[in-house]
Amino acid sequence: MAEFRLPGTRCEPVTLYGNPVLRQPARPVTVFDRSVRKLVDDLFRTMREIETGVGLAANQIGRHEAVFVFDCGGDNVGCVVNPRIELLGEDLEPGGEGCLSLPGVTLLTERHSRARVTGADLDGTPLSIEASGLLARCFQHETHHLEGRLYIDLHPAEVRDAVDADLRSSEWYGTAAIDPRSPVYLRAQQQDRFS
Ligand code: ZN
Repeated sequence: MAEFRLPGTRCEPVTLYGNPVLRQPARPVTVFDRSVRKLVDDLFRTMREIETGVGLAANQIGRHEAVFVFDCGGDNVGCVVNPRIELLGEDLEPGGEGCLSLPGVTLLTERHSRARVTGADLDGTPLSIEASGLLARCFQHETHHLEGRLYIDLHPAEVRDAVDADLRSSEWYGTAAIDPRSPVYLRAQQQDRFS
């Protein structure tokens, strides 16, 4: 698959739907060295180039480590290494959900309204964060990425097939990864498919 990268960029290309890396479970981080810190920097820089970005998992920039970053506003900013998700309670909450690897697709998606993520910080110190609302949705979405899952998997086959057919006809389909500041990506994001 081709990769589209703008010259001189400091931001990483975002892997796109169809790229097999999005279906591969991440590998646990066992050594907490500078490379993990660098990866987290790369994830933050890339996520912040995208206006709608509230979370980004390592395989979305083509990496295999079990790491994601999040920025859901206020103090809800950070990274989780080797995350595990625990769904809390029975309450489900529908919400418009998108993914930076499927630009322009928003689907009303039901998630648990409360969840707890456990894992480690950059230094390997165990962490546990209990969340609700957008942050809980983000934790579920990003942890699924690192299991090789996508949010469209939560939808019935007919929805998945419709999204798949639509994306196959998109301008970027067949591109493995793309600079999120490129015109093709920005155009795709503005299309607001399925919302
Ligand atoms: Zn995503």
